[in-house]
Amino acid sequence: MLEAAYDPDWAESWDSVGLVCGDPAEPVRRVLFAVDPVAAVLEEALEWGADLIVAHHPLFLRGVNGVAATTPKGRLVHRLIRANIALYTAHTNADVARPGVSDALARAVGLTGPLRPIRPVPGADPQRSPGLGRIGLLSEPMSLGDFAAQASAGLPETAGPLRVAGDPDAPVHRVAVCGGAGDSLLEDVRAGGVDVYLTADLRHHPASEFMEVGGPALIDAAHWATEWPWLRDAAALVESALGAQGTTVETRVSATVTDAWTTVRDK
Ligand SMILES: [Zn+2]
Repeated sequence: MLEAAYDPDWAESWDSVGLVCGDPAEPVRRVLFAVDPVAAVLEEALEWGADLIVAHHPLFLRGVNGVAATTPKGRLVHRLIRANIALYTAHTNADVARPGVSDALARAVGLTGPLRPIRPVPGADPQRSPGLGRIGLLSEPMSLGDFAAQASAGLPETAGPLRVAGDPDAPVHRVAVCGGAGDSLLEDVRAGGVDVYLTADLRHHPASEFMEVGGPALIDAAHWATEWPWLRDAAALVESALGAQGTTVETRVSATVTDAWTTVRDK
């Protein structure tokens, strides 16, 4: 069912998606959805009694020669198997899916109406085909500063605030978003005729050069916060699809903040 919603064939060639550990024949009663497959999330899964963790980020991206418990990832595999908890990841295939990661982000920051990918699959129908990022409209124009406040309120709390590049009084209406690190889409965003682009992990040089040639405005959010809203969608999808089959599988969205940045120091 996860593969029906998040087709593994949509994943980037460098990506690693699907079942990481676990026996497909084992029963699943409780499914925990989380952004990162890290120790804190495993603790949450143990406490709740989860049988399966569905994570957005892969545990392993490159080839591994062993999973000795002498590394954090190897230790995690040991703990998962000992606790009989499976791990499944849906990463870039969930990014491009419709609905996918950026649809959930777009709704969380207040976009309404139809959403289209920032970068559709070439030659495919832009209304339906998978694609990266989303462009949509706010219900009414507002200032960049007000949109930043609305976006901040709509995203889960992390240590750091949103960072904004652009005139806070400038009006914004058409908005682009991309969950996770979205600076590879900057040129597509500029071509998309939007007023502001919200994503995560924007670096100094790409952002500075983008603003030097006139923008649009940029908003940089915490990576974890931009992807977390998708967990609710994925959990709801699983629960309703399995519920329709008459099962009583329970889902939960992880409440553990696993953004890398944990403290902000005022000057
Ligand atoms: Zn990510």
